[in-house]
Amino acid sequence: PTALFAPRANSAGVDLADPLVREPLPESMAELSDFSGWTAAPTAEAAPAAAPRPVTCPHDRTIVVGHCRDARPDEVSTMIERALSAQPEWDARGGAARAELLAAVADAYEAHRDAFLSLCQREAGKTLTDAVLELREAVDFLRYYAAEARRLFTPEGEALPGPTGESNRLTLHGRGAFVAIAPWNFPLAIFTGLIAGPLAAGNTVLAKPAEQTPLIADLAVRLFREAGMPDGVVQLVPGDGTVGAMLTGDPRIAGVAFTGSTETARAINRSLASRDGPLAQFVAETGGQNAMIVDSSALPEQVTRDVVASAFQSAGQRCSALRVLYLQDDIADAMLEMIRGAFEALVIGDPEDLTTDVGPVIDAEAKAALDAHVAAMRAAGHTVWQRELPQGCDRGTFVAPAIIQIDSIRQLEREHFGPVLHVARFAAADLEQVIADINAVGYGLTLGIHTRIDNTRRLVQARAKVGNLYVNRNQIGAVVGSQPFGGEGLSGTGPKAGGPHYVARFATERVACIDT
Ligand code: GLU
Repeated sequence: PTALFAPRANSAGVDLADPLVREPLPESMAELSDFSGWTAAPTAEAAPAAAPRPVTCPHDRTIVVGHCRDARPDEVSTMIERALSAQPEWDARGGAARAELLAAVADAYEAHRDAFLSLCQREAGKTLTDAVLELREAVDFLRYYAAEARRLFTPEGEALPGPTGESNRLTLHGRGAFVAIAPWNFPLAIFTGLIAGPLAAGNTVLAKPAEQTPLIADLAVRLFREAGMPDGVVQLVPGDGTVGAMLTGDPRIAGVAFTGSTETARAINRSLASRDGPLAQFVAETGGQNAMIVDSSALPEQVTRDVVASAFQSAGQRCSALRVLYLQDDIADAMLEMIRGAFEALVIGDPEDLTTDVGPVIDAEAKAALDAHVAAMRAAGHTVWQRELPQGCDRGTFVAPAIIQIDSIRQLEREHFGPVLHVARFAAADLEQVIADINAVGYGLTLGIHTRIDNTRRLVQARAKVGNLYVNRNQIGAVVGSQPFGGEGLSGTGPKAGGPHYVARFATERVACIDT
């Protein structure tokens, strides 16, 4: 069988611990932070249209970061047509040629480091640490999928066994025009991965960014095009859910690569099932109700650090983030006290301030839903510890981080996508029941376990139905190529992003059997 990975390395990223790197950054980013004259627009822009909408800054809604003009139905249709006509040539180029262009895009991303970091802060409300990780992951996706294109899409394909005198060869090919629908929480990394995966496989891509983050996406698509991707190979299709529905309901598209909510994934699935045209491929990565189990053998300082990072980094706006912490009852009080100590020390505020740990949430709708959840839990009698928001936070959409006591994961009806951690207790004898309860929720994305007991770790590993299990560490920040990311059940269809089975899923397989 073909090896599961090709030789390559992840990017070095930006070392914020090095003062020579860190100190000049804010200034060089500030020089690039005025995007106000910039309008993200559909790649196939036809006639000038309605006034663009403003894109505002999550930590200060009075700042207009830039503008976006959403795609009109006639433009969507024209772009699909272009994607279809560009696809055969793109596919025929083969994996090595496509890889070369994807690698050139990775270099271009690195060359535009400061503009991307600045946009991640301004448009998506990211801290500098998160912005740096985001850019790094985007670059890694490009290089990883480039290596995958080289590995999988050779002109000769794979030779398969057969009787003497017969040659059997399996080759992979693009399917057609793919739609990539991306979330706002990783507006560069996931947006890039959802484009680069299908492209590596020989498809053309219509890329719809989240409504909240079209500017980062616009810069990204410009760099794909400037790197030499032919017209029609990657096109930006900004817009809201109606634009998404136009794309996924069109009988001409071959499939959809999606990251977002489970609810939207279901809607896309229905739309793909009810339209005419080819049977579509659907790759979805959705939400989670992620737990961490901590037993009495765990190291308290390590647990504290990992709980706080897993629940509150990125203001809890990661699919992978910790939502329900299970503490073994005999250590629960002491553990909770340490966790609350670290929680009280979190710096909340402007993400452009280097000391900030927790920035804003993405928009007013997200804030309202999270605030309503905390209020409802309080009204229902749960103990809630909540931080006060510092001055100035009222200019943006901030949610005061909270820790809420519950009895079981079963008390939560859905995922709460923000800086809210729920804590439950369990007796050692009930560990199997805890795992069963976590599985019964139906999501299956990440699970953390802190234990020094091998049998406990083995039990959890054998029973937990999750895509990404993390032992004695935090449960966020999967690394491309090392921890391929994605879940099962309500959390997604697989295959895993940044893993060896991803790119092939966007391809179609053909076998040629030649007799002598
Ligand atoms: N891959 C990210 C992580 O491991 C999460 C991606 C997401 O939020 O969709 O933290």
